[in-house]
Amino acid sequence: MWVSTFCSGDPSVFEPYWRKNGGKCTITISGHDSLSYFSDPNSVCWYMEPELQEAIRRVHRVVGNAETEGCHVVAGTGSTVLFQAALYALSTSSSSVAAEPMKVVCAAPYYSQYKEQVELLQSRLYEWGGDAETFDGSAAPFIEVVTSPNNPDGSLREAAVANKTGNGKLIHDLAYYWPNYTPITRPADYDIMLFTLTKCTGHAGSRIGWALVKDVEVAKKMTTFMQITTIGVSKDSQLRAAKILDVVAEDCEQHAADADKTFFGESRKLMAERWEKLREAVKDKKDVFTLPKYPKRYCNFSGRYFQPAPAFGWLECKEGCDASALMKAHNVLTRGGETFGVSSRYTRISMIGREEEFERFIERISGIQCVDEEDE
Ligand code: PMP
Repeated sequence: MWVSTFCSGDPSVFEPYWRKNGGKCTITISGHDSLSYFSDPNSVCWYMEPELQEAIRRVHRVVGNAETEGCHVVAGTGSTVLFQAALYALSTSSSSVAAEPMKVVCAAPYYSQYKEQVELLQSRLYEWGGDAETFDGSAAPFIEVVTSPNNPDGSLREAAVANKTGNGKLIHDLAYYWPNYTPITRPADYDIMLFTLTKCTGHAGSRIGWALVKDVEVAKKMTTFMQITTIGVSKDSQLRAAKILDVVAEDCEQHAADADKTFFGESRKLMAERWEKLREAVKDKKDVFTLPKYPKRYCNFSGRYFQPAPAFGWLECKEGCDASALMKAHNVLTRGGETFGVSSRYTRISMIGREEEFERFIERISGIQCVDEEDE
C-alpha cells in the first residue's frame, strides 16, 4: 500500500522550474579550490565566501523582504544551526548572564524543531519555556522566537511577549518570507533574522542558511559557535548557493516589470494552484476539516494583491477528532498538532512535496469522512 508522506517539509515543489532552468546554475569547482578554511579573514563571518554574502544582499534588495543595510551576514549549514548559534549568542551576552537557564518561548502552534533543538543538549544556558502567549516574561531575561509566516499555520506574526516586558530578546525566523508563499508587504527589519535557501529556492540539500544580524557582538558570537561546532560551512555549497541566488536575482532584475515571469512568480503560481486544489477538495467537508483563511495583501515585489499560499496546510478537525489519526487511516502521514504545542484536532500537511505525491494526496483527502470515536 502506498502511503503518502506529508509529515516533512521537503521542498521538492520547485523541481520542474529547476529542471527547466538548471543549466544556468552550473558552476565548476576545481581540484585546487576549497583548500583553506578561510574565505574572508577581514569579515566578521570569516568562513563566508564574499560571493555568497553579495548574492544574499542582492536577492534581498530585489525582493524587498529584508533590510540588509547595517546588518552582518552569518552563514550556516541551513538555518537550523544558526538558530542554535543565535541561542548561544543571546544567552551568553553580558546583559543576560543568569543563574538559571534562559527560557526560550514561541507562540503556539510553533515549529516543532525549536523545542527539540533547545532540549537536545540539556544546556545550562537555555531551556524550553513553551508557548509565548501564556509565558510570564516579567521575571527574567528570555528569548522569543517569532516565525513569520508561521510554520505550521501560515499566519503572519509579531512578537507575543518580548516587546511587552523589555526582558525579551528576539529571533525572527523568516524562512517563508518570500513571494512564492506570501505577499511581501515591507522589508523586515529586526535584530536577528534567519533565512534559508531551503525554502527560498528549494535547495534544501545544499544546506545553506544565513542570519542577518544587527549587533556586531551577537554576529561574532554566532560565528564563534559555528567555528567551534563545525569550523565554518562548506565552501562548495556556498559557491553553489551564491550562483543560484545570483541567477534568481538577475531574473528578478530582468523581469522587474513582470514579476510573474520570475522564479518567484512561477513558484507563487504553482503554490496558488495547489492551494486552490486543496480548498476545492475540502470545500464540502466543513463538518470534517477547515483550513485557515488568509486575507489578500498587496505584494510590493509582484505589484499586485494576492492571497498567501503557505508551505503547509493547517487542518482543523471538529472537537474530539484526532486529525493526524484520521489522515493516517486514509494512508496520509501528516504531523499532528501536539508536536506544535496545540491540540490533536489539528494536523499539518506539506504543500511543497512532489507533484505526483500532491495529486495522490488530493485524491485521498477527497474521500475522507470524519471518524467518530466509536468508529476508530
Ligand atoms: N525554520 C523553519 C520555520 C523551517 O520550517 C525550517 C525548515 N523546515 C527551518 C527553519 C530550517 O531550514 P534549514 O535548516 O533547511 O535551513
